[in-house]
Amino acid sequence: MSDCIFCKIVNGGIPCSKVYEDEDILAFNDIAPARPVHVLVIPKKHISSLMTATPEDAPVFGKMLAKANEIAASQGSSDGFRVIINNGRVGGQEVPHLHMHIVGGPDPVGPMLKKL
Ligand code: AMP
Ligand code: ZN
Repeated sequence: MSDCIFCKIVNGGIPCSKVYEDEDILAFNDIAPARPVHVLVIPKKHISSLMTATPEDAPVFGKMLAKANEIAASQGSSDGFRVIINNGRVGGQEVPHLHMHIVGGPDPVGPMLKKL
């Protein structure tokens, strides 16, 4: 999508701090890290969110998950990490190109969500 910031990163129109790339996915450091390790993993194909995903997208999602440990360890989170995918308004998604956050570092990332 021509006006999508993450598609522009895939196409090289906007620079990124790349940590992994193959024919289907790209991983780069988040520009505003929330933890010592904060990587975004995206499908190169524009998929807006899990709200618009189809069964044909399953292989690339599998690859994103299957590569997460390698990416996290390569950035210094070798003793675990958390993955987060925000979806739509309720999920707090800011960039409408599906992305998986990998957050971690040397220390635990902390509690997930406050209980109701
Ligand atoms: P989300 O709220 O899940 O949509 O998260 C969007 C994430 O994208 C935020 O953590 C931003 O800091 C990050 N972000 C936005 N623009 C860029 C960029 N040009 N390069 C790297 N990360 C970015
Ligand atoms: Zn896009």
